[in-house]
Amino acid sequence: MKRETFDVFVCVDCGLQLANGEVENPDPHWQGFDHDNRWDGYIVVNWDSDKDHDFSWSHCEGCGSTLGGTRMHCVAWEVEYVR
Ligand SMILES: [Zn+2]
Repeated sequence: MKRETFDVFVCVDCGLQLANGEVENPDPHWQGFDHDNRWDGYIVVNWDSDKDHDFSWSHCEGCGSTLGGTRMHCVAWEVEYVR
């Protein structure tokens, strides 16, 4: 069975949370990576830093932030739960 994957671009704070599991000094308005609601059924991992956008006004696909800044390239992998 082919697993579904797609590209995701997230802000630096979300990217660091994905990479490290925590963020030391996030933006004070940062709400955190919205994993429970937005990515149910997917695992999102940092992927190809060559595809990062140095600056973008597009919203972060992790937390929804619309602040301009770096967007880190990640890939979402569909998770198949074993029952
Ligand atoms: Zn974010």
